[in-house]
Amino acid sequence: MIQKNMEYCKEEINKKAEYCLGCKVKMCTKGCPLGNDITQFIAYVKEKKYEQAYHILCNTSVLSPICGRICPHKSQCEGACVRGIKGDPVCIGELEAYVGDMGIEKQYQIPKFSEEKKEKRIAVIGGGPAGLTAAAWLIRNGYEVTIYEKYDKLGGILRHGIPEFRLEKEILDKQIQKIIDLGIKVQYQKSLGKDYVLEALEKEYDAIFLGIGANISAKMGIEGEELQGVYGGNELLEYKLPIEYIGKKVVVIGGGNVAMDTARTIKRLGAKEVNIVYRRAEKQMPAERKEIEAAKQEGIQFLFQTNVIKVIGANKVEKVECIKTELVKKEGEAREVPVDIIGSNFIMDTDYVVMAVGSKPEEGIVHSLGLELTSKGNIKIDENYRTSRKKVFAGGDICGVKATVAWASRSGREAARAIMQFLEEGKSN
Ligand SMILES: Cc1cc2nc3c(=O)[nH]c(=O)nc-3n(C[C@H](O)[C@H](O)[C@H](O)COP(=O)(O)OP(=O)(O)OC[C@H]3O[C@@H](n4cnc5c(N)ncnc54)[C@H](O)[C@@H]3O)c2cc1C
Repeated sequence: MIQKNMEYCKEEINKKAEYCLGCKVKMCTKGCPLGNDITQFIAYVKEKKYEQAYHILCNTSVLSPICGRICPHKSQCEGACVRGIKGDPVCIGELEAYVGDMGIEKQYQIPKFSEEKKEKRIAVIGGGPAGLTAAAWLIRNGYEVTIYEKYDKLGGILRHGIPEFRLEKEILDKQIQKIIDLGIKVQYQKSLGKDYVLEALEKEYDAIFLGIGANISAKMGIEGEELQGVYGGNELLEYKLPIEYIGKKVVVIGGGNVAMDTARTIKRLGAKEVNIVYRRAEKQMPAERKEIEAAKQEGIQFLFQTNVIKVIGANKVEKVECIKTELVKKEGEAREVPVDIIGSNFIMDTDYVVMAVGSKPEEGIVHSLGLELTSKGNIKIDENYRTSRKKVFAGGDICGVKATVAWASRSGREAARAIMQFLEEGKSN
């Protein structure tokens, strides 16, 4: 729901903006993966000049209503806010979401960078944060862009992963429409590797950006993982598998966004008991503090410093065997490492097990592309986001960049800049 009652909100928002010190050295901007000029947009909010605030954000981002809601602010902009040293940081996320929502409500335009039409065509494969941002940057600079997306809607994980209770589809749809309205063409339900191949696009387009994400759940490699009733968290959220949770017990393994979102979704779908099992300490959880607190309030239980070592059942899951861990300092490791405590094993009854221990690219597709890969199976890019093929650039989760929306978006924007440079250089040859 768009922030209702914006006039009422305005007073609150302005109070929050006034709290910003407007520092000369912008630590918040340094903390933002997109490099948003945070003090400047907040300065405009203080003056109630919302359209100007919106344009400042548009200089670096096209995802403000989304980033304002779901970025891990405490480890990015707000974590770097000088106000946070002695007290609470400025609510940067909330302010950004407010201005982003204003952009939707009041139909502020995302400004173009150039009115000159360039005679070059670029294909963007994948319409998640990386692809949407790359496409927006290219079209704002006058290039012709077509997005090829395997689904009938754009958004990537924003649509097929992050649940409605964290990111409203109404906001997502409206922001995506705003981006498409810049003049981007979209080919829906066109899957790379199935409906067309890279070589064909290379012949048709001057450059290609690949942003197909990495939304396959990693496996743990433990006994019983193949049993019926064991699912990957990414797949559960993406495909909304028709599973009956009412009255069931569920164990979710992991400590990041996927673990938190699956656990909270499953609880809302009626599960009797949801246990998140995480092998490290609570303070080491990659999920945002507010997500952990929300999960606790919703009745989800946490077993910290606990590892699942075996899934047990005749045909389907019946139990899991767990072991307690202790955290040990190890040479060469940046943080303490969990080590199993011998003899601390215990058994838990459960109906389902959800693996949320990491995400990886879809092997079949990345291997079929004929591109050089990293040792982790991601698409290898150089410092200019270029793959091993001259015309093909890539960004976002498929390249193994830090898996957050803002980092994926940044890589789309920077890859677009690299593509433009490549196309401009090509003109003079
Ligand atoms: C459950 C979950 C919760 C998360 N929560 C947060 C959060 O709160 N905050 C945060 O910052 N980050 C979060 N993340 C991470 C963030 O969503 C990702 O880092 C980001 O979406 C990556 O963007 P991307 O564009 O690289 O890939 P994606 O978002 O995965 O988009 C890839 C796009 O490519 C399309 N595609 C895939 N294969 C093909 C093909 N063969 N042909 C054509 N199109 C294709 C897909 O349909 C999709 O539209 C979360 C991730 C998950 C899984």
